[in-house]
Amino acid sequence: MTESLRIYVALRNDIISCELKPGASLSESELCARYKASRTPIREACRRLQEEALLQIVPFRGYFVAPLTFDEFRNLNEMQLVLDPAAAAMAAERATEEQIANIERWANYVYHAGQKASYETFLEWNRNLHIEIAAASGNELMAEMTSHLQTRLIRYFYLVISMSSYGKELVDEHHAIVRAIKARKPEQARDRATEHVIRTIERTSRVTIPSVGQARDVPNSSTSRPSASGGRRPTP
Ligand SMILES: [Zn+2]
Repeated sequence: MTESLRIYVALRNDIISCELKPGASLSESELCARYKASRTPIREACRRLQEEALLQIVPFRGYFVAPLTFDEFRNLNEMQLVLDPAAAAMAAERATEEQIANIERWANYVYHAGQKASYETFLEWNRNLHIEIAAASGNELMAEMTSHLQTRLIRYFYLVISMSSYGKELVDEHHAIVRAIKARKPEQARDRATEHVIRTIERTSRVTIPSVGQARDVPNSSTSRPSASGGRRPTP
């Protein structure tokens, strides 16, 4: 693994898990100290994360962790509503037996409500499940775009530490998608995937919660970020 790849993986993980707060400003020297690296690989890793929309590079001001905003969350949900059902339908037609086995595996994690580590594991499995379904569509672009989308979405889900009531509901929805893919029923897979995204959007609008980062230091960031008290809690 090259030095810049090592930093990229570590920094990406810190951003995705919200270890580094959305909107936080990071100087090059801070990054060098944090990841025990020199400037060149730090810059390379940061450029790559900028391409993935996880980091913003502002000339003469430094690096900013991309803020989380309701506008972005809504945009991601809308894209998911386009991509996921199409991917599930294609996967029902084209998935190999091995891919179906992987999809089934990723769908089988039930998290323990209120346990942070368990919820975080569920988030990773949820992301892997959706990426694996997209990969099974046999369309490389579909897989690539889903991976990008899921990586951006998971940051919103990480913000929620104690999830109380949705575990079984989420797993049931995943199982329904997997059953349709396994039964080679594209229309059913499309419908179940559509329902899953729509219900995610509903769950998000039903619950309330916390602040989602400080975007004020970042030029051109959305003005419709959530307030400290009246935000919404996204669930996958
Ligand atoms: Zn899901």
